[in-house]
Amino acid sequence: MDSCLFCRIANHEVPSDILYEDDSIVAFRDISPQAPVHFLVIPKKHINNIMEIEESDKELLGNILFNAQKIAKTEGCEEKGARFVLNCKTDGGQTVGHLHLHVLGKRMLYWPPG
Ligand code: AMP
Ligand code: ZN
Repeated sequence: MDSCLFCRIANHEVPSDILYEDDSIVAFRDISPQAPVHFLVIPKKHINNIMEIEESDKELLGNILFNAQKIAKTEGCEEKGARFVLNCKTDGGQTVGHLHLHVLGKRMLYWPPG
């Protein structure tokens, strides 16, 4: 999708602080971090949100989660943990319509969210 910001980041058309990349996913730091560690992991292919994944995306989603926890560890979050979040559509607070997993760490976060 030419107009999608995260597709453009995945294609390196928009600069980002990339932490990890392979054939199917990219991880980059959030431009407006809400914690000392805050990065996003996205599929390179455009998927609007988690409600629109298909059976054939199961391996892709596994790759996102696997690398999210690996990066969280390299960012120093192994001992105290982190929050792994998928916002979806309006009620979920999603503002960018390309599936992305947030990882936030190095700060105590509370539950439930506001
Ligand atoms: P959400 O509200 O779940 O859709 O999250 C979108 C996230 O994308 C927000 O945390 C933004 O700060 C982040 N974001 C928006 N534009 C960029 C960008 N150009 N590079 C990195 N992160 C971005
Ligand atoms: Zn996209």
